[in-house]
Amino acid sequence: MEPVSPQTPEPPRDGLGCHGGKQQLAQAAAAAGKSEVLAQYAADYPVGPHDQPQSMCPAFGSLRVGLRMRRTATVLCGSACCVYGLTFTSHFYGARRSVGYVPFNSETLVTGKLFEDIREAVFKLADPEHYDAVVVINLCVPTASGVPLKILPKEINGVRIIGIDVPGFGVPTHAEAKDVLAAAMLKYARAEAEKGPVQAPRSGRTARPTITLLGEMFPVDPVTIGMLLDPLELAAGPVVPTREWRELYAALDCAAVAAIHPFYTASLREFEAAGRKVFGSAPVGSDGTAAWLEAVGDACGIAAQKIGAAKDKCLPMIRAALSAKPIKGRITLSGYEGSELLVARLLIESGADVRYVGTACPRTPWSNADREWLEGKGVRVQYRASLEQDLAAMQEFEPDLAIGTTPVVQKAKQQAIPALYFTNLISARPLIGVAGAGSLAQVICAALGNQARFDEFQSFFADTGEGAAAGIWQDVPHDRPEFREQHKRQLAKAAAKRKSEEMV
Ligand code: SF4
Repeated sequence: MEPVSPQTPEPPRDGLGCHGGKQQLAQAAAAAGKSEVLAQYAADYPVGPHDQPQSMCPAFGSLRVGLRMRRTATVLCGSACCVYGLTFTSHFYGARRSVGYVPFNSETLVTGKLFEDIREAVFKLADPEHYDAVVVINLCVPTASGVPLKILPKEINGVRIIGIDVPGFGVPTHAEAKDVLAAAMLKYARAEAEKGPVQAPRSGRTARPTITLLGEMFPVDPVTIGMLLDPLELAAGPVVPTREWRELYAALDCAAVAAIHPFYTASLREFEAAGRKVFGSAPVGSDGTAAWLEAVGDACGIAAQKIGAAKDKCLPMIRAALSAKPIKGRITLSGYEGSELLVARLLIESGADVRYVGTACPRTPWSNADREWLEGKGVRVQYRASLEQDLAAMQEFEPDLAIGTTPVVQKAKQQAIPALYFTNLISARPLIGVAGAGSLAQVICAALGNQARFDEFQSFFADTGEGAAAGIWQDVPHDRPEFREQHKRQLAKAAAKRKSEEMV
């Protein structure tokens, strides 16, 4: 096939990105032929009240999904600083794969050579001995410049080529970026399955109908879900995002889909196109497990009596686990994983007084049951929560424990409030069934028990000052807010100058 040299319009101004120029990048992308994909993202990932929660670069979600799959090469195309940050973060979170990178400069971007470079890289990588799929991810600048990944060959030597745009100005969170790649893969796999026979899962096909589990989970959770489904003569299917291409076919070939994480809007569109029923929430705590088993029954047409027997089998054990380790204390909780509402439910069933749940994810129909349950218990649920809202909730409710993102935890610790990181400490443990009830209580109770240590820290460091004066000094530094003001004025002046130059 002859190389295609697309016409690439003028690239966006250097220095724009997640710290500014979002609107300009979006306009450039639309002018460069990306309006369709941006409109789809706008429909799938509604913003507001806050348009983009403060969290890591969204593309990390897609990168992580690609890096966690066997026999999959993942290639980034974007500014070197973005790629550096994304590579650093992926290795921080234990990626054991190389991150591919196709660099560019203004010339290769303007002339369309960048697309040729990507194409060449993809041809070099597409070795069926090593890979089932090659994923190419356009970051902000190549997306805004219209680098047309959709005209890459769909397949080379039997290796699937998946090109996606994941700009920070179109995909609000890294959670939703996982959906972008998962959905692109499901769409591809669905088209393959419609054409003819496809590979079975590595472990073989199960004799029973399966429930596909949507959302990354702690490894023991799908096993626990399998045990809950056993009395219904169902089995747990693959977890999406999958760890291998061939699992995608098994995921599509299910009886129904459990949207454990509720933000996979594009992936759910693929399941619905395959004729699969979808239901939300997860088997967390006693109420949550009972409601979830009923939802499974509804989706799969299982007799009420059988559902009742399944509940009788597991609910007493879950209740016993919850009451064996009660949680006593007031808690505020926020995060960007998509499981925040489920964690809050489990905390409340364990006895905690939860007042606020903030999630960076949008409101979707698949979290309605959890939201209604929480609001019924007097909890304030904030979708697309900003850092300011999470911090304000902490001030308002004066919790005994704040669970949150890094800046929330930092602020809490400054105020001698025990705090836990959601991503590292809560997401990294089981949530489902009996295992979830016992495990979560263990870490929460240990953190709640730390108040005396925090009080001791605070009194020990009380004389060491704060902010610009923090530390032990012979001459305590004076804060100079006027310098900051001056710097701000200079930046505003430079921005106004740029704007007026643009209009000339
Ligand atoms: S790719 Fe990510 S890090 Fe780079 S400018 Fe866009 S949002 Fe920011």
